[in-house]
Amino acid sequence: MYAPETPPRVPDASPPVPPVPVRTPETTAAAPDMNAIVGSHDLLFVTLDTLRHDVAQELAADGRIPHLARYLPGGRWERRHAPGSFTYASHQAMFAGFLPTPAAPGPHPRLFAARFAGSETTAPGTWVFDTPDLVTGLAAAGYHTVCIGGVGFFNKQAALGSVLPGLFRESHWKPEFGVASATSFEAQVAQAEQVVAALPAEQRLFLFVNVAALHQPNWFHLPGATREAGDSRATHAAALEYVDRHIGRLFAAAASRRPCFTIVCSDHGTAYGDDGYTGHRLGHEAVWTVPYAQFTIEAAR
Ligand SMILES: [Zn+2]
Repeated sequence: MYAPETPPRVPDASPPVPPVPVRTPETTAAAPDMNAIVGSHDLLFVTLDTLRHDVAQELAADGRIPHLARYLPGGRWERRHAPGSFTYASHQAMFAGFLPTPAAPGPHPRLFAARFAGSETTAPGTWVFDTPDLVTGLAAAGYHTVCIGGVGFFNKQAALGSVLPGLFRESHWKPEFGVASATSFEAQVAQAEQVVAALPAEQRLFLFVNVAALHQPNWFHLPGATREAGDSRATHAAALEYVDRHIGRLFAAAASRRPCFTIVCSDHGTAYGDDGYTGHRLGHEAVWTVPYAQFTIEAAR
């Protein structure tokens, strides 16, 4: 579980509690300096909505997602804890700077953080923003912010589905991007290619893509599966293989103009009968544990 931020200590009569040290860059060699990246790189944030960590890791180990695995540090997903158990909660937290937390005792420095007195996870390499959320913070720093939505919380069909896309300067959603489409990710990638092509060369880009393909229903991604038999761990895995077949085009578009710092993760997992549970928005290991990766895609030459 993520430890909530605490307000600054008010001096009182009790003995002082030594603060937990934040790891310095020397002790976290892999931690990037986001203050050097923001402003110089384009940024891509992809949420593979609902993707389970165990399924993602199995497919990486078995060579079934070669296009993603190329970019995963060491060819493996990092095991993290989601900041929410369903799409809306998790994305609100992530857009506030609370990306999934490494699944080991912390504290863990964050890549992005709102200015917040007493934050114990704001480190020298953290990019700090003065807005309430990362998206408008990056816009204030000169980024063009674009959302390509997938699941219902991004569909802009009613007020609630407009909250998250509304953080961005530009947002896109069509039924072809949604959970019921068997070609949703290809349609999203085509939209991303159009977005990038329309930008002036000097314009920095923050591109966010919420991928709907893993979310239920996903049975139609497995050849031979039927609507009657429904979704399963196997159809969930087939949906990730489907995404893998097309994600190279997204990465190529995102890094077509300059190096692109990229985050790919899930917002939460989902249960397929694990301990009797089905779905998400519940507190099961299959829901809280998510795959995560961050890496830089070098600019195409
Ligand atoms: Zn979700």
